[in-house]
Amino acid sequence: MENDKKNDLSRPARKALDILIDKQLCNHCLGRQYGLLLSGLDNKTRGKILRNYLMMHGDLKLMENDNPEILTLTGKNTEIGEKSLKRRGIDPKPDKHDCWLCSGLFKNLDRYADEIKEKTSDIEFNTFLVGTKLTPKLIQKEETIWTEYGADYAESLKSEINREVGKRFEKQVDAVVEFETPDLVAIINLKDSSIEINNNPIFFYGRYRKHVRGIPQTEWYCPVCRGEGCMRCDGEGRLYEESIEKTISKPLLRETEGKTAVFHGAGREDVDVKMLGNGRPFVIEIKEPKNREIDHQEIMEEINNKHGDKIEVKKLQPTNRNKIEEIKEARAPKTYRAKINAKPNENQITQEQLMKALKQLEGKTIEQETPRRISRRPEKTRKRKILETDILDKTNEHYIIKIKTEAGAYVKEIISGDNGKTKPSLAELLNKDIKCLELDVLNVHYTE
Ligand SMILES: [Zn+2]
Ligand SMILES: [Zn+2]
Repeated sequence: MENDKKNDLSRPARKALDILIDKQLCNHCLGRQYGLLLSGLDNKTRGKILRNYLMMHGDLKLMENDNPEILTLTGKNTEIGEKSLKRRGIDPKPDKHDCWLCSGLFKNLDRYADEIKEKTSDIEFNTFLVGTKLTPKLIQKEETIWTEYGADYAESLKSEINREVGKRFEKQVDAVVEFETPDLVAIINLKDSSIEINNNPIFFYGRYRKHVRGIPQTEWYCPVCRGEGCMRCDGEGRLYEESIEKTISKPLLRETEGKTAVFHGAGREDVDVKMLGNGRPFVIEIKEPKNREIDHQEIMEEINNKHGDKIEVKKLQPTNRNKIEEIKEARAPKTYRAKINAKPNENQITQEQLMKALKQLEGKTIEQETPRRISRRPEKTRKRKILETDILDKTNEHYIIKIKTEAGAYVKEIISGDNGKTKPSLAELLNKDIKCLELDVLNVHYTE
């Protein structure tokens, strides 16, 4: 079409006319090229407005004794346009094919929304997000339009589908769209029109106390059969019947109807170490929960009633994923109580000697090679500071001492020296074969 027929059009309108002359587009795909103009409209309405405006232009050309080419081209696909064409005795021939760009996929929006509804009917959620995987062909066609006509005020196809399906789904459920941390994400894969639901995990924060020795923090699978069950583990698959993880996650999984639970602790104590005081912070992640609104208070009471003599939970409450990093990165100092094999009675070590050695350790940075009892590969030497020391008590057989350290110190080795692998140590300073007989964590210095 010669340029003088378009010269009296504004730049965006000329672009729209160029696109329509060149390609057959649906109102969504036409309007989307103007998605950033006139906020508050959907692209389908933008497309219709453009056609109606261009039709007025075509009408003007007709009055100027031009042929009805522009009028017939732009009069299609809107009610006003088609009505107007008929009044002029022109048959508004409907488009023979689907939209060049999207092949008519916007007809499927309701169906996608219905299918998401169906697939999420047994899941409880308050927020959601819709995502779309485009096919390479769609991506390429969208790029063609943008390369040929510019993308200065265009919205992307993906974002329009996400929003339009989201709007439709939102009307059917009691939930709202959320971009940051939606409860669930529905992905429309345009390759095969399939829909995948990602049900995001929920998180609970709390602190646990362990009043007895011999319970590991997390499930400890049998090293021989790795959970299958064998002679070594009496067919149990695990070395310990109980774990902090299992005790806390079991009722949470039951109430949320989640698939699996992951335990994230703010560090961990050895199996033979008690966890006392204000307890150790943890976050439990429940994957694929069906219920999100559960009575966490009641669950906490249930755990404490059933297991309180061994495992006790405090401050159980809903939280979010960020809390995992927060409790790990806090690197909370810990206060320990240790029973050591230094006999006061036999004058092996006097209280003064012990106190002097403890005070020598206070404020010192201890260098520790990975102890042999830790099965992991040796890492580079750890440096941890001892913050406080004291003698708490003594019996005829033992002293009870207190040590407060930075996070991640091997406390048993600070006492024994671990054959010179930890320096300095209590054993080294006293020049005696000192060992830690019992260890308890008295406090994890972390504030919510
Ligand atoms: Zn289209
Ligand atoms: Zn086994």
